[in-house]
Amino acid sequence: MVTANINSNADPKIISVSNIKIGKGHFAVIAGPCTIESEDQLFRIAYAVKNSGANILRGGAFKPRSSPYEFQGLKKEGLRLLSEVKKETGLPVVTEITNTHALDLFSDIDLIQVGARNMQNYDLLRELGKTDKPILLKRGFCNTLQELLMSAEYIMQAGNENIILCERGIRTYENYTRNTLDLSAVPALHMLSNLPVIVDPSHATGNSALVPSMALAATACGADGLMVEVHFDPACALCDGPQSITPQTFDKLQKDVMKIRNTLF
Ligand code: PEP
Ligand code: MN
Repeated sequence: MVTANINSNADPKIISVSNIKIGKGHFAVIAGPCTIESEDQLFRIAYAVKNSGANILRGGAFKPRSSPYEFQGLKKEGLRLLSEVKKETGLPVVTEITNTHALDLFSDIDLIQVGARNMQNYDLLRELGKTDKPILLKRGFCNTLQELLMSAEYIMQAGNENIILCERGIRTYENYTRNTLDLSAVPALHMLSNLPVIVDPSHATGNSALVPSMALAATACGADGLMVEVHFDPACALCDGPQSITPQTFDKLQKDVMKIRNTLF
């Protein structure tokens, strides 16, 4: 395959998301709710994860749900709340874009996420390639590492080299977990490219009881960061409650992650 832009021999790349660096020894923890539900919910979670040491706040505004009958996100209002919470807390924000028409609304977003379902939306990738925003590119649940890298190439070919790759689990015959976390993707993507690689143990497992151990394993195998879903009341969350950990669990996880970082890296 032709990878004109991805260079596996080059020095590991550092991607800047506002004042936060990711890659080449810079480790970032992204945390927050799957979906923004209200101002109160977003602000409470933002302050909680910030106090525990998270570097970037996540929160979905446009939610690509598997069922059209499920909550689809607060959309524009969600983006407005992200701008507000960023001003108040100083945390950079990441949220998912689902189509090219929405791009103008993302001017105040620090890191634009392309979700698993849109990893091969080539028109979207090309448009994002024309922006100067860093892009968080998640692996599709039925996509190979080569396909993930080709999607990164689409963005780069259009002019934007600021890409963070994200392993979030793939579909296998195992159905105890929501997906199967492919941790070998982390060292493999580091060998195949010089882009930072982060891991999302929340969508990878679909089960909050499994999230901390998978986050620690991802840290130990050299991930450049983590993205974790956090909610004060997972049982009542509008989206992905079963895989959301509480702020208390996140606080302990953050400490354990730092212990691994300090021991191994
Ligand atoms: C998300 O991060 O909110 C999300 C929808 O993840 P994925 O695209 O990996 O399913
Ligand atoms: Mn989610």
